[in-house]
Amino acid sequence: MGTKGREIVGMDIEELLTLLNKAFADEWLAYYQYWLGAKVAKGPMKEGLIAELLQHATDELRHADLVANRIVQLGGEPVATPQGWYENTNCGYDAPTDPYVRVLLEQNIKGEQCAIGVYQALAQKTRDADPVTYEMAVQILNDEVEHEEDLQSLLEDLDLMASRH
Ligand code: MG
Ligand code: FE
Ligand code: FE
Repeated sequence: MGTKGREIVGMDIEELLTLLNKAFADEWLAYYQYWLGAKVAKGPMKEGLIAELLQHATDELRHADLVANRIVQLGGEPVATPQGWYENTNCGYDAPTDPYVRVLLEQNIKGEQCAIGVYQALAQKTRDADPVTYEMAVQILNDEVEHEEDLQSLLEDLDLMASRH
């Protein structure tokens, strides 16, 4: 923990650490949900979905890394157990038990939309109080916005294919 780096944070650090740990829990659950979804996907256009899910899973793990680093910088402790992910998550976990492409797409779009809300809120809360966390939140928000669009355009293609047959 850097003392000056912590001192310049103009908001309650415990509150900030709670928000960061909730986002951290979300990232691990999203990582696993997408990673497993890519393993089990079945149905039309599954190759496109698998490619996106693997890329997004990699991004979510990178987000977990960014958020964990910020938690440690601020003197906090990243959630230490998988049970803790469940206790802290904002966005929850949708098990990919139905492997059909459309179902996975819908579940994962919901996850990305939740993530967009989480990082939008974190960015708003930190914009003036903590520029370091703000910059990280905006960086992650950019990825989540891209993830949503990737999946929604796949769903659109799936609908087009179904309507032209
Ligand atoms: Mg993508
Ligand atoms: Fe993420
Ligand atoms: Fe994402």
